[in-house]
Amino acid sequence: VYINPIVNSELANKTIGTVIVFNDITELKRLERIRSDFVANVSHELRTPLTSIMGFVETLKEGNIKDEATTERFLDIISLETERLTRLINDILTLSEIENVREDVKKDVIGIKDLIEDITYILDSKAKEKNVNILIKIDPEDLKIIANRDRIHQLFINLIDNGIKYNKENGTVIINVWKEKCNINISVKDTGIGIPREHIPRIFERFYRVDKGRSRKLGGTGLGLAIVKHIIESMNGDIVINSEPGVGTEFLITLNGVCDNLT
Ligand code: ADP
Repeated sequence: VYINPIVNSELANKTIGTVIVFNDITELKRLERIRSDFVANVSHELRTPLTSIMGFVETLKEGNIKDEATTERFLDIISLETERLTRLINDILTLSEIENVREDVKKDVIGIKDLIEDITYILDSKAKEKNVNILIKIDPEDLKIIANRDRIHQLFINLIDNGIKYNKENGTVIINVWKEKCNINISVKDTGIGIPREHIPRIFERFYRVDKGRSRKLGGTGLGLAIVKHIIESMNGDIVINSEPGVGTEFLITLNGVCDNLT
């Protein structure tokens, strides 16, 4: 709490009244801590690939690596780490855009079938690497929703990408989208490794990962689900996780009032 004297300049600094401002300092401190933790995490996450890139570039520059296969391997690592940096920066920018632009976000009429098919096309080679089968069911088939296209695209791609990444060889990702009144329900279910119960409450935090090594190896940034959560919050939707280790995970989402009345 602080007391702020109102000073009228014409009265030459005479106090003419008092305004008492109540600030919830604990909430401000909590937000400040979240912000500074985020900056520290971002710095760490950016530094890791950069250190690795610099190390391999230096080694190559020293000129002691003579055989072509090792040179090739080092260049591959540099290239992968650069891709990871790019993904990380893109995810940080996406997150910040969603957080800052809450109102007035552009709305489009989105055909869900085409959108999901485009995404499975983008993720096709990743799915084929593990022989993961993607099944899609949309009810009604020509379902259209009214929302921001980029955000809905991001929402689906992050969940389906995880469904492939954390799946087993020959596994399945099942995508179900159905309409209930003017709400749209989305289920993205996989037959993967699952999420241990104690991790579920923290899974939407930025950079939180069940297994850091595994996520890194699979090219994860640790921001995918934080982005999903922010998109759903910005649309006043809900998300629930059902998961069983060794069996699979389901992300169940409800988006309220996004139906296109013409479908
Ligand atoms: P990442 O880039 O690490 O995949 P995400 O924010 O998308 O980051 O997910 C956070 C963590 O949640 C992952 O590292 C993983 O441990 C866990 N996770 C996310 N989706 C799944 C899933 N479908 N199955 C099992 N674990 C998952």
